Amino acid sequence: MSALAAQLRAILPAEIVHDDEEIRHAHAGDKWHRGDSPDVVVAPHTVEQVSALLAWANENGVPVTPRGSGYGYVGGSVTSRQGILLSLLEMNRIREINAPDFVALVEPGVTTESLQMAVRELGLFYPPDPSSRKYSSIGGNIATNAGGPRSLKYGVTRHYVLGLEVVLADGRVLHLGGRTHKNKTGFDLLGLFVGSEGMLGVVTAATLRLLPHPPVRAGLAAVFPAPEMAAAAVEAILAEGILPAALELADGFTWQSYLQLEGLPPDEAGAYLLVELDGQPEAVAVETEDIAAILRRCGAVSVEQAMDDAGAEALWAVRRRFSAALDAACSWRLNEDIVVPRSRLVDLMHFGRELGERHGLRVACFGHAGDGNVHVNILVNESSDLHAAHQEAETALDELFAQILDWGGAITGEHGIGLAKKRWWPEAASPEVRAAHAAVKAALDPKGILNPGKFL
Ligand SMILES: Cc1cc2nc3c(=O)[nH]c(=O)nc-3n(C[C@H](O)[C@H](O)[C@H](O)COP(=O)(O)OP(=O)(O)OC[C@H]3O[C@@H](n4cnc5c(N)ncnc54)[C@H](O)[C@@H]3O)c2cc1C
Repeated sequence: MSALAAQLRAILPAEIVHDDEEIRHAHAGDKWHRGDSPDVVVAPHTVEQVSALLAWANENGVPVTPRGSGYGYVGGSVTSRQGILLSLLEMNRIREINAPDFVALVEPGVTTESLQMAVRELGLFYPPDPSSRKYSSIGGNIATNAGGPRSLKYGVTRHYVLGLEVVLADGRVLHLGGRTHKNKTGFDLLGLFVGSEGMLGVVTAATLRLLPHPPVRAGLAAVFPAPEMAAAAVEAILAEGILPAALELADGFTWQSYLQLEGLPPDEAGAYLLVELDGQPEAVAVETEDIAAILRRCGAVSVEQAMDDAGAEALWAVRRRFSAALDAACSWRLNEDIVVPRSRLVDLMHFGRELGERHGLRVACFGHAGDGNVHVNILVNESSDLHAAHQEAETALDELFAQILDWGGAITGEHGIGLAKKRWWPEAASPEVRAAHAAVKAALDPKGILNPGKFL
């Protein structure tokens, strides 16, 4: 048994402290990067245990890295300075779903999808829908302010967090907000913790806002000769005054990779656009017809309509395979969740293609086009000169981020900065903004024990 594990077992139940190689190794990475194994994994069941752990770690200057499901894309839950990996997955109870109040009170280890399914049974709706929702945890969603396809109409995780229980680095417990749908008591400290990437406090419970579940859902899938045309269709739909629940675009390479993954023959498609609508039946029926007409006017070569839940779900099943399709088409890929102002969508599709050509790399774009949040994927195949391929990809990223910032966009819309985008943090935030971040961090975690080594 390691000395650190022995010390932790003196203050915590022994069965929640793990130092065997297999468990430590299983907690060594996320979906971006595998780092070194943490020295110890602690998986508490109560806020008191989290508080005792942090008070001890703060006293002794030991790093603590919070972790949900490890489905992040920026190395946020990777223990860059080893120490203690704090897994919140054992705190996974839905404590209450209150239909009259339209709230759910949950622990951080609840998966996004299980919450959505539980509230759905009561006719309620929890909209934030990261594509990882089957696995991602609510704690991880809050810490990354996760978005997803439905952000277009319903906003991101921050719009659904009404109350939080947060343990600070020194073990003190804050209760912020509550179950009211509005609350303006003091500063928006609650908002400060949403998206704070596990660097300001540990979320141990959350009160989440629910909506009435929309009665009807419909979908349209359109194929275009070129991604620029699909991007123009996105702008046209919104310009006509229609706000779909989601507008998801994939370029031709992503689409052809999907066909290949499914063992289907290649086709002529240069882009794929998925539209989701929800709401009252009459409104959805009218909007579906209107959108079909807009898509054809914008040059779609085919438009498929699904007028019920099962049909819309079948269209989503295709969309959800795009990540896997790109993974199958390369040795590894960098998935950059950049955001551009909506009016730059067409320019972005064009820029992505040129960027790939300039660097001899395959660049594939797909994602939440309605928000301007398109995932730009740089695909690398393990060539004889892997080092050169890495270098080329990094140079391409420099150019991508410089262009995005120049357009008034952002280098991340939902994944966060973490380790992966640390290099570009100085370009993405002014010295004054970085100083404000450092001041907040110093106030809440003066010894810097919470998730150290990340972008601050
Ligand atoms: C295939 C795929 C699709 C994805 N699609 C989307 C998408 O559509 N939209 C989107 O936003 N993201 C998406 N992601 C990224 C990822 O799923 C989200 O960032 C998700 O919120 C991570 O949740 P997690 O539980 O896995 O968190 P982790 O990866 O474990 O942690 C993420 C960050 O949160 C911190 N953290 C975790 N739990 C807590 C807690 N209780 N208290 C304080 N800090 C905590 C960690 O320290 C880390 O910094 C996708 C990822 C994959 C692999």
